[in-house]
Amino acid sequence: MFENLLSFDPDADESALIEGIASLERLKAAAAARQARLTAALDAARRSTEAASGVPAARRGRGVATEVALARRDSPVRGGRHLGLAKALVHEMPHTLAALEIGALSEWRATIAVRESACLDIEDRRRLDAELCSDVGRLDGLGDCALAAAAKAIAYRLDPHAVVDRASRAPQDRTVSIRPAPDTMTYVTALLPVAQGVSIYAALKREADVCCDGRSRGQVMADTLVERVTGRPADQSVPIAVNVVISDQSLLGAGNAAAVIAGYGPVPSAIAVNLINDAVADQRSWATLRRLYATPATGALVALESRARIFPKGLVDFIGLRDQRCRTPYCDAPIRHRDHARPHRLGGKTSSVNGLGLCEGCNYTKEADGWKVDATTAENGTHTAEFTTPTGACYHSTAPPMPGTPQTPFAA
Ligand SMILES: [Zn+2]
Repeated sequence: MFENLLSFDPDADESALIEGIASLERLKAAAAARQARLTAALDAARRSTEAASGVPAARRGRGVATEVALARRDSPVRGGRHLGLAKALVHEMPHTLAALEIGALSEWRATIAVRESACLDIEDRRRLDAELCSDVGRLDGLGDCALAAAAKAIAYRLDPHAVVDRASRAPQDRTVSIRPAPDTMTYVTALLPVAQGVSIYAALKREADVCCDGRSRGQVMADTLVERVTGRPADQSVPIAVNVVISDQSLLGAGNAAAVIAGYGPVPSAIAVNLINDAVADQRSWATLRRLYATPATGALVALESRARIFPKGLVDFIGLRDQRCRTPYCDAPIRHRDHARPHRLGGKTSSVNGLGLCEGCNYTKEADGWKVDATTAENGTHTAEFTTPTGACYHSTAPPMPGTPQTPFAA
């Protein structure tokens, strides 16, 4: 049946093309339902094996979310969501799972139903599941927002206190994050309780209302935000070190390899040179240029090593600049820990080769039972980490190439 769907007939008429698109959508939903069953089964199997071998209850199933993520080529954070969704669907929401199985819900809409019922106890969650999804005909034509609204209304009717409690706990999730935007710009996003968010925006708008120096309203608001947070005028460089990795040729104007801003990613070398020139020109924030060179032929950075178990500061900086982001495949999270790939207690060295930049979650995951990580540096300087999970599945990640390193084009 699937072979039929996956083959492409160039002579098919338009209605056959539309029917093919609809059938494949149903197949994707059915595949998501099957993945949920397999995921919940893996979690249950792992927990019972670990229980039998005496692993304490609190430590059971620790790396499963990341194993699911690696198998799905997704980040560990999303792996956690996939695992949570699978367990909720299989153990608590059979009607939603059935709707997914026949394609009446997409994986995302099933996620919405699970998300909106997460604050309920298990009996109420089962009632919501039945009320929302037992008659799949009523799901026809419901968009994401309409489905979320229907689920919210049922949840509120079943247990208003649980819904209010959840809303009152939400401010605990307040946070600030950063991600790259096109043209060497960046988005700094704050997730805030609504009153604080609205008052920040109102304060910036007030500033724009009274300012008439030729800047646009958006520019005034952005400049005011920078000034109030950093305590300095927006057009002055900020006295916080911005780590820029750039090849010597590019710094001296001879090369045009991209430079890398730590915590941001690659930028054109001309922009990095401007940043460095600005910092050098500003006496309050002298640029510190750190030498991290090694063999010029390969572009590999110096191999550093320490006898101590704790990574010394120079090595910590080095690993952070080399790895740039968490080294677990697909993770992308900022680096929080610089730790041993092979643990120190098993003879792993405190060295640049055996050191890995990881986010906090991934560093704990790799310590779970049955996980093994090995790191090597090839002759051309490429640093590779190999992650082996408890099932024996094996995944690799390589450190991004350093600016100025001779490299093959990404698409090659
Ligand atoms: Zn990570």
